[in-house]
Amino acid sequence: MHSCFRISLPGMLFIAVHFACLAVFWTGINVEAAALCAFMFFIRKFGITGAFHRYFSHRSYKTSRFFQFCLAFLGGAAAQKGALWWAAQHRHHHKHSDTHEDIHSAKLEGFYWSHIGWVLSPEYEEYDEKTVKDLSRFPELVWLDKYIFIPPVVAGTFCFVVGHFWFGSAMMGLVVGFFISTVILYHTTFSINSLCHMFGSRRYETGEESKNSIWLAILTMGEGWHNNHHHFPLSCRQGFFWWEIDITYYILLGLEKVGLVWDLQAPPQRLLQPEAMTAINKTLVETPVEVPESAVSEAV
Ligand SMILES: [Zn+2]
Ligand SMILES: [Zn+2]
Repeated sequence: MHSCFRISLPGMLFIAVHFACLAVFWTGINVEAAALCAFMFFIRKFGITGAFHRYFSHRSYKTSRFFQFCLAFLGGAAAQKGALWWAAQHRHHHKHSDTHEDIHSAKLEGFYWSHIGWVLSPEYEEYDEKTVKDLSRFPELVWLDKYIFIPPVVAGTFCFVVGHFWFGSAMMGLVVGFFISTVILYHTTFSINSLCHMFGSRRYETGEESKNSIWLAILTMGEGWHNNHHHFPLSCRQGFFWWEIDITYYILLGLEKVGLVWDLQAPPQRLLQPEAMTAINKTLVETPVEVPESAVSEAV
Protein backbone atom coordinates (compact mmCIF):
# COMPACT_ATOMS: atom_id res chain seq x y z
CA MET A 1 0.00 0.00 0.00
CA HIS A 2 1.15 3.53 -0.77
CA SER A 3 1.20 6.39 1.72
CA CYS A 4 -1.53 8.92 0.94
CA PHE A 5 -0.10 11.45 3.40
CA ARG A 6 3.17 12.36 1.66
CA ILE A 7 2.62 15.13 -0.88
CA SER A 8 5.23 16.31 -3.38
CA LEU A 9 5.88 19.95 -4.33
CA PRO A 10 4.07 19.53 -7.68
CA GLY A 11 1.29 17.85 -5.67
CA MET A 12 0.98 21.00 -3.54
CA LEU A 13 0.77 23.12 -6.70
CA PHE A 14 -1.94 20.76 -7.94
CA ILE A 15 -3.93 21.44 -4.73
CA ALA A 16 -3.23 25.19 -5.03
CA VAL A 17 -4.78 25.22 -8.53
CA HIS A 18 -7.98 23.86 -6.97
CA PHE A 19 -8.01 26.61 -4.34
CA ALA A 20 -7.37 29.25 -7.02
CA CYS A 21 -10.75 28.33 -8.51
CA LEU A 22 -12.44 29.70 -5.38
CA ALA A 23 -11.42 33.19 -6.56
CA VAL A 24 -14.43 32.95 -8.90
CA PHE A 25 -16.55 34.11 -5.93
CA TRP A 26 -14.55 37.34 -6.08
CA THR A 27 -14.20 37.76 -9.88
CA GLY A 28 -17.66 36.49 -10.83
CA ILE A 29 -18.40 34.74 -14.11
CA ASN A 30 -20.10 35.77 -17.35
CA VAL A 31 -21.00 34.03 -20.64
CA GLU A 32 -17.79 35.14 -22.37
CA ALA A 33 -15.62 33.80 -19.53
CA ALA A 34 -17.54 30.49 -19.60
CA ALA A 35 -16.92 30.29 -23.37
CA LEU A 36 -13.20 30.90 -22.80
CA CYS A 37 -13.24 28.15 -20.15
CA ALA A 38 -14.87 25.74 -22.64
CA PHE A 39 -12.37 26.67 -25.37
CA MET A 40 -9.39 26.18 -23.04
CA PHE A 41 -10.82 22.86 -21.92
CA PHE A 42 -11.39 21.47 -25.43
CA ILE A 43 -8.13 22.55 -26.98
CA ARG A 44 -6.01 21.35 -24.06
CA LYS A 45 -8.08 18.16 -23.72
CA PHE A 46 -6.98 17.34 -27.24
CA GLY A 47 -3.44 18.10 -26.07
CA ILE A 48 -3.83 15.26 -23.56
CA THR A 49 -5.89 12.77 -25.58
CA GLY A 50 -4.64 13.40 -29.12
CA ALA A 51 -1.07 14.37 -28.24
CA PHE A 52 0.18 12.98 -24.88
CA HIS A 53 -1.88 9.81 -25.07
CA ARG A 54 -2.44 8.73 -28.67
CA TYR A 55 0.74 10.24 -30.12
CA PHE A 56 3.49 10.34 -27.50
CA SER A 57 2.44 7.30 -25.44
CA HIS A 58 1.29 5.01 -28.22
CA ARG A 59 2.63 6.48 -31.48
CA SER A 60 -0.69 5.66 -33.14
CA TYR A 61 -0.10 8.15 -35.98
CA LYS A 62 2.76 10.09 -37.50
CA THR A 63 3.50 13.79 -37.85
CA SER A 64 6.33 16.24 -38.63
CA ARG A 65 8.94 17.23 -36.09
CA PHE A 66 7.56 20.75 -35.95
CA PHE A 67 3.97 19.67 -35.33
CA GLN A 68 5.24 17.12 -32.80
CA PHE A 69 6.65 20.03 -30.80
CA CYS A 70 3.33 21.91 -31.11
CA LEU A 71 1.54 18.81 -29.77
CA ALA A 72 3.97 18.55 -26.84
CA PHE A 73 3.42 22.23 -26.04
CA LEU A 74 -0.38 21.92 -26.22
CA GLY A 75 -0.39 18.87 -23.94
CA GLY A 76 2.01 20.63 -21.57
CA ALA A 77 -0.42 23.56 -21.34
CA ALA A 78 -2.82 21.23 -19.49
CA ALA A 79 -0.38 21.34 -16.54
CA GLN A 80 0.04 17.55 -16.36
CA LYS A 81 3.83 17.72 -16.65
CA GLY A 82 5.67 17.00 -19.92
CA ALA A 83 5.15 14.56 -22.78
CA LEU A 84 8.05 12.30 -21.71
CA TRP A 85 6.92 12.01 -18.09
CA TRP A 86 3.30 11.45 -19.14
CA ALA A 87 4.16 8.84 -21.80
CA ALA A 88 6.58 6.96 -19.50
CA GLN A 89 3.99 6.66 -16.70
CA HIS A 90 1.27 5.69 -19.14
CA ARG A 91 3.35 3.02 -20.90
CA HIS A 92 4.12 1.60 -17.46
CA HIS A 93 0.36 1.45 -16.75
CA HIS A 94 -0.29 -0.53 -19.94
CA LYS A 95 2.53 -2.93 -19.21
CA HIS A 96 1.48 -3.65 -15.61
CA SER A 97 -2.26 -2.84 -15.58
CA ASP A 98 -3.98 -3.86 -12.37
CA THR A 99 -0.97 -5.74 -11.01
CA HIS A 100 1.08 -4.69 -7.98
CA GLU A 101 3.49 -2.98 -10.38
CA ASP A 102 0.74 -0.68 -11.72
CA ILE A 103 1.20 2.96 -10.73
CA HIS A 104 -2.51 3.59 -10.32
CA SER A 105 -4.52 0.40 -10.10
CA ALA A 106 -8.12 1.12 -9.08
CA LYS A 107 -8.61 -2.60 -8.47
CA LEU A 108 -5.74 -2.97 -6.00
CA GLU A 109 -5.42 0.53 -4.52
CA GLY A 110 -8.95 1.91 -4.72
CA PHE A 111 -10.52 5.04 -6.15
CA TYR A 112 -8.58 7.72 -4.28
CA TRP A 113 -5.12 6.42 -5.11
CA SER A 114 -5.91 5.67 -8.78
CA HIS A 115 -7.56 9.07 -9.23
CA ILE A 116 -5.24 11.56 -7.50
CA GLY A 117 -3.27 9.76 -4.78
CA TRP A 118 -0.47 8.78 -7.17
CA VAL A 119 -0.43 12.30 -8.68
CA LEU A 120 0.08 13.96 -5.29
CA SER A 121 2.64 11.42 -4.12
CA PRO A 122 6.42 12.06 -4.38
CA GLU A 123 6.83 8.43 -5.57
CA TYR A 124 6.31 9.17 -9.26
CA GLU A 125 8.04 12.51 -9.76
CA GLU A 126 10.72 10.69 -11.74
CA TYR A 127 10.19 8.34 -14.64
CA ASP A 128 12.08 5.46 -16.24
CA GLU A 129 13.96 7.10 -19.11
CA LYS A 130 14.53 3.75 -20.82
CA THR A 131 10.83 3.51 -21.64
CA VAL A 132 10.78 6.75 -23.69
CA LYS A 133 14.04 6.55 -25.65
CA ASP A 134 12.08 7.08 -28.88
CA LEU A 135 11.01 10.50 -27.53
CA SER A 136 14.14 11.60 -25.67
CA ARG A 137 16.16 11.63 -28.90
CA PHE A 138 14.45 14.96 -29.64
CA PRO A 139 16.23 17.66 -27.57
CA GLU A 140 13.31 20.08 -27.89
CA LEU A 141 11.00 17.55 -26.17
CA VAL A 142 13.54 16.97 -23.39
CA TRP A 143 13.83 20.74 -22.98
CA LEU A 144 10.05 21.11 -22.71
CA ASP A 145 9.95 18.31 -20.15
CA LYS A 146 12.54 20.17 -18.09
CA TYR A 147 10.74 23.52 -18.21
CA ILE A 148 7.21 22.17 -17.70
CA PHE A 149 5.97 25.46 -16.29
CA ILE A 150 6.33 27.30 -19.64
CA PRO A 151 3.22 25.98 -21.50
CA PRO A 152 0.81 26.46 -18.53
CA VAL A 153 2.18 29.97 -17.91
CA VAL A 154 1.63 30.83 -21.58
CA ALA A 155 -1.93 29.41 -21.35
CA GLY A 156 -2.65 31.40 -18.18
CA THR A 157 -1.24 34.60 -19.68
CA PHE A 158 -3.36 34.07 -22.79
CA CYS A 159 -6.52 33.82 -20.63
CA PHE A 160 -5.48 36.91 -18.64
CA VAL A 161 -4.98 39.00 -21.81
CA VAL A 162 -8.13 37.67 -23.54
CA GLY A 163 -10.14 38.40 -20.39
CA HIS A 164 -8.87 41.97 -20.34
CA PHE A 165 -9.53 42.77 -24.01
CA TRP A 166 -12.68 40.67 -24.57
CA PHE A 167 -14.79 41.19 -21.46
CA GLY A 168 -12.84 43.72 -19.45
CA SER A 169 -11.72 41.46 -16.59
CA ALA A 170 -8.25 39.94 -16.79
CA MET A 171 -8.68 38.19 -13.43
CA MET A 172 -11.98 36.61 -14.49
CA GLY A 173 -10.25 35.40 -17.66
CA LEU A 174 -7.44 33.86 -15.59
CA VAL A 175 -9.62 32.26 -12.93
CA VAL A 176 -12.45 30.95 -15.14
CA GLY A 177 -10.56 30.48 -18.41
CA PHE A 178 -7.42 28.95 -16.97
CA PHE A 179 -7.79 27.65 -13.40
CA ILE A 180 -11.32 26.21 -13.60
CA SER A 181 -10.76 24.58 -17.00
CA THR A 182 -7.45 23.13 -15.72
CA VAL A 183 -9.20 21.48 -12.75
CA ILE A 184 -11.89 20.04 -15.06
CA LEU A 185 -9.09 18.75 -17.30
CA TYR A 186 -7.39 17.08 -14.33
CA HIS A 187 -10.41 15.19 -13.12
CA THR A 188 -11.73 14.12 -16.51
CA THR A 189 -8.26 12.80 -17.43
CA PHE A 190 -7.77 11.01 -14.11
CA SER A 191 -11.28 9.50 -14.28
CA ILE A 192 -9.96 7.21 -17.03
CA ASN A 193 -7.39 5.81 -14.59
CA SER A 194 -9.93 5.45 -11.79
CA LEU A 195 -13.57 5.20 -12.94
CA CYS A 196 -12.78 3.56 -16.30
CA HIS A 197 -11.17 0.65 -14.44
CA MET A 198 -14.24 0.41 -12.15
CA PHE A 199 -17.49 1.12 -14.01
CA GLY A 200 -18.68 0.30 -17.51
CA SER A 201 -18.87 -2.71 -19.80
CA ARG A 202 -16.21 -5.03 -21.12
CA ARG A 203 -15.98 -6.18 -24.73
CA TYR A 204 -12.54 -7.82 -24.68
CA GLU A 205 -10.90 -10.06 -22.11
CA THR A 206 -7.78 -7.99 -21.51
CA GLY A 207 -6.43 -9.47 -18.29
CA GLU A 208 -7.15 -6.33 -16.26
CA GLU A 209 -10.22 -4.30 -15.31
CA SER A 210 -10.50 -1.72 -18.11
CA LYS A 211 -14.07 -0.80 -19.08
CA ASN A 212 -15.93 0.99 -21.88
CA SER A 213 -18.14 3.90 -20.80
CA ILE A 214 -20.03 6.20 -23.16
CA TRP A 215 -20.38 8.85 -20.42
CA LEU A 216 -16.64 9.01 -19.88
CA ALA A 217 -16.08 8.88 -23.65
CA ILE A 218 -18.21 12.04 -24.03
CA LEU A 219 -16.47 13.82 -21.13
CA THR A 220 -12.98 12.89 -22.31
CA MET A 221 -13.31 13.25 -26.09
CA GLY A 222 -13.24 9.49 -26.73
CA GLU A 223 -10.99 8.10 -24.01
CA GLY A 224 -13.88 6.31 -22.30
CA TRP A 225 -13.57 3.37 -24.73
CA HIS A 226 -10.84 2.19 -22.42
CA ASN A 227 -11.44 -1.56 -22.76
CA ASN A 228 -11.13 -1.22 -26.55
CA HIS A 229 -7.98 0.80 -26.00
CA HIS A 230 -6.35 -1.69 -23.61
CA HIS A 231 -7.06 -4.46 -26.09
CA PHE A 232 -5.41 -2.67 -29.02
CA PRO A 233 -3.47 0.40 -27.78
CA LEU A 234 -1.86 1.03 -31.16
CA SER A 235 -5.16 2.16 -32.66
CA CYS A 236 -5.51 5.90 -33.00
CA ARG A 237 -9.26 5.29 -32.99
CA GLN A 238 -10.58 4.24 -29.58
CA GLY A 239 -14.27 4.08 -30.45
CA PHE A 240 -14.06 0.98 -32.63
CA PHE A 241 -17.56 1.35 -34.14
CA TRP A 242 -19.31 4.34 -35.71
CA TRP A 243 -21.65 4.72 -32.75
CA GLU A 244 -18.76 4.89 -30.26
CA ILE A 245 -18.30 8.65 -30.22
CA ASP A 246 -14.61 9.60 -30.29
CA ILE A 247 -14.09 13.35 -30.76
CA THR A 248 -10.29 13.07 -30.57
CA TYR A 249 -10.33 10.71 -33.55
CA TYR A 250 -12.57 13.07 -35.55
CA ILE A 251 -10.13 15.93 -34.90
CA LEU A 252 -7.23 13.74 -36.00
CA LEU A 253 -9.13 12.87 -39.19
CA GLY A 254 -9.46 16.63 -39.81
CA LEU A 255 -5.74 17.15 -39.20
CA GLU A 256 -5.03 14.28 -41.59
CA LYS A 257 -7.15 15.98 -44.27
CA VAL A 258 -5.02 19.12 -44.07
CA GLY A 259 -1.79 17.10 -44.08
CA LEU A 260 -0.60 17.82 -40.52
CA VAL A 261 -0.73 14.15 -39.43
CA TRP A 262 -0.70 10.86 -41.33
CA ASP A 263 -0.59 7.05 -41.02
CA LEU A 264 -3.47 6.89 -38.53
CA GLN A 265 -3.58 3.33 -37.16
CA ALA A 266 -6.93 1.50 -37.09
CA PRO A 267 -7.98 -1.63 -35.19
CA PRO A 268 -7.61 -4.80 -37.31
CA GLN A 269 -10.88 -6.05 -38.82
CA ARG A 270 -10.63 -9.34 -36.94
CA LEU A 271 -11.08 -7.48 -33.62
CA LEU A 272 -14.42 -6.14 -34.80
CA GLN A 273 -15.93 -9.61 -35.32
CA PRO A 274 -18.30 -10.96 -32.63
CA GLU A 275 -16.05 -13.97 -31.92
CA ALA A 276 -13.18 -11.60 -30.99
CA MET A 277 -15.30 -9.98 -28.28
CA THR A 278 -14.26 -12.52 -25.71
CA ALA A 279 -15.40 -10.70 -22.58
CA ILE A 280 -18.96 -10.49 -23.96
CA ASN A 281 -18.90 -14.13 -25.01
CA LYS A 282 -17.57 -15.12 -21.62
CA THR A 283 -20.36 -13.22 -19.89
CA LEU A 284 -22.91 -15.02 -22.04
CA VAL A 285 -21.43 -18.41 -21.20
CA GLU A 286 -21.00 -17.73 -17.51
CA THR A 287 -24.41 -16.17 -16.87
CA PRO A 288 -26.48 -18.87 -15.15
CA VAL A 289 -29.57 -19.86 -17.09
CA GLU A 290 -32.68 -18.69 -15.27
CA VAL A 291 -34.65 -21.57 -13.85
CA PRO A 292 -38.31 -21.37 -14.96
CA GLU A 293 -40.77 -20.82 -12.13
CA SER A 294 -42.64 -23.97 -13.04
CA ALA A 295 -39.49 -26.05 -12.56
CA VAL A 296 -38.97 -24.50 -9.11
CA SER A 297 -42.51 -25.28 -7.95
CA GLU A 298 -42.17 -28.83 -9.28
CA ALA A 299 -38.97 -29.30 -7.31
CA VAL A 300 -40.63 -28.04 -4.10
ZN1 LIG B 1 -6.08 1.76 -18.14
ZN1 LIG C 1 -3.11 4.21 -23.38
